[in-house]
Amino acid sequence: MAAAREEGSVKIAFIGLGIMGMPMAKHLVAAGHTVSGYNRSRAKVDEFAADGGTAAASVTDAVQGADVVITMLPNHPEVEEVVLGQGGVLESAEPGALLIDMSTIRPETSIAIAEAARDKNVRVLDAPVSGGEAGAKQAALSIMVGGEEADFAAARPVFEALGKTVVHVGPHGAGQVVKAANQLVVGGIYGLVSEAIVLMEASGVDAKTGLDVLAGGLAANRILDLKRESMVARQFQPGFRIDLHHKDMGIATDAARQADVALPMTGLVAQLLAAARAMGHGSLDHSALLKVVEQLSGRA
Ligand code: NAD
Repeated sequence: MAAAREEGSVKIAFIGLGIMGMPMAKHLVAAGHTVSGYNRSRAKVDEFAADGGTAAASVTDAVQGADVVITMLPNHPEVEEVVLGQGGVLESAEPGALLIDMSTIRPETSIAIAEAARDKNVRVLDAPVSGGEAGAKQAALSIMVGGEEADFAAARPVFEALGKTVVHVGPHGAGQVVKAANQLVVGGIYGLVSEAIVLMEASGVDAKTGLDVLAGGLAANRILDLKRESMVARQFQPGFRIDLHHKDMGIATDAARQADVALPMTGLVAQLLAAARAMGHGSLDHSALLKVVEQLSGRA
């Protein structure tokens, strides 16, 4: 780390200032780090600069001289382009820099990036997150980290500015496997909460009252806590888009195939999310799975 910087302050490049990345990058600024932000659309970069970040004009501009490079991008093609492509992170990063990819992508891409980075003396962690937009805004994310133990230890101050539950779960790609497990559980719960709402409403029972009872018993879960009111009110602004959850279910089903296991409920939820997307709901919050469940019962 550069001697001229304040003790504990790290020079960070943050690439991908979207729903998640923007509040995360701002927390790193608030924690005293020097953060250079880059996003494909310039308006996001300007918003970040107005809040104490440094505006970068390109990936190269952001990454030059950085101790830590964080990527928070939609999916593996964007991560491959930004990290491995022309003018990408591996072309510009300082030897010894630490690349932390916090996007949710397929595990094999995380492994391939770690291998490519080794040749450039760049260290890599895959560190996808759970907790949604609210978790990002409150710096309360769960962060599941794959890679070398020593690199995880070095990245701890960065993670602690972003999340509350920060766990090293195994080698490169392991963070993404844990995230896939997280997403299949979340998708399954949304599907079941949707079915509970449809059943209660079709039976003439007030769904809000019913879900309040569920939230106090064995069926209690975070999704019921955070989303039951907005689901009953049919408020589906994202949050986490159906398109991104559809992507994540593809990662989960691919990972299951690679691991030679059958995940039948995951397969069903993946198809329901595919239906939501095919019905034109891709840009709605994933709680809009309720629309598909309603449609299946002729109640849309
Ligand atoms: P988003 O689409 O809001 O943000 C992605 C940002 O990356 C956008 O601002 C986009 O302009 C930018 N971008 C895309 N390609 C780029 C490129 N080549 N160069 C520079 N910038 C580029 O998505 P998000 O909701 O912030 O999600 C980001 C990642 O985090 C995804 O992998 C998602 O699955 C994961 N995630 C999201 C949530 C959530 O609740 N939104 C929760 C957990 C994990």
